[in-house]
Amino acid sequence: MNIIFLGPPGVGKGTHAKLLGEELNIPQISTGDMLRAHIKGQTALGMAAKKHIDAGELVPDDVVIGMVKERLAQPDCENGFILDGFPRTIPQAEALKAITTIDAVIDLVAGNEVILGRLSGRRVCKDCGATYHISRLDGKTTCEACGGPLIHRVDDQPDTILNRLKVYEEQTAPLIAYYEQEGLLHAVSAEEGIEVDHQLIKEALGLTA
Ligand code: ADP
Ligand code: ZN
Repeated sequence: MNIIFLGPPGVGKGTHAKLLGEELNIPQISTGDMLRAHIKGQTALGMAAKKHIDAGELVPDDVVIGMVKERLAQPDCENGFILDGFPRTIPQAEALKAITTIDAVIDLVAGNEVILGRLSGRRVCKDCGATYHISRLDGKTTCEACGGPLIHRVDDQPDTILNRLKVYEEQTAPLIAYYEQEGLLHAVSAEEGIEVDHQLIKEALGLTA
């Protein structure tokens, strides 16, 4: 199954894409993670992307499209994949359509207050990228999975968060109507907690017994 996770920053795309990917045994492809790996590795692509990311802006379409095209050509995508954070603009969606077919688009929906709370409290492992929320960390400052230090992403600071939400409304939200028109859209509430939301997502995909 080829699936897209759509939704504003902080709504839980990464968490749910990862969970579902593990269950279906297909890769979760996060363009945000891929870009951060490029920055960490100090590649040319990473250097070019960093200033956009830190400002809460989108990385130029051609850069991201090239990266995804290459990733989808890998053999592990043959049996399906979950795109998390791509497409984020109409041109990206058009480019994707030219490369592959999509079976379903899950649009994760949550109120603004929920989203702001999740983003401002998000902490990320510097080494493996695992995400946590301060409300559940009990003061811990290291990653449960690998022991790496937990950091507050530059783009998770209040001013940048507001810019990312604005960018989402202007550039990414139009994809909801786009995929609605394609007959692929499934809106799913992402406010009830990870377990419940996960079940709702599976129901929307017709994956429950
Ligand atoms: P979130 O979903 O919380 O916003 P991501 O890790 O998906 O975080 O993305 C972080 C940043 O990476 C974005 O704000 C943007 O600058 C860049 N980025 C990720 N995916 C794309 C994309 N498909 N197109 C353009 N920029 C992207
Ligand atoms: Zn870690």
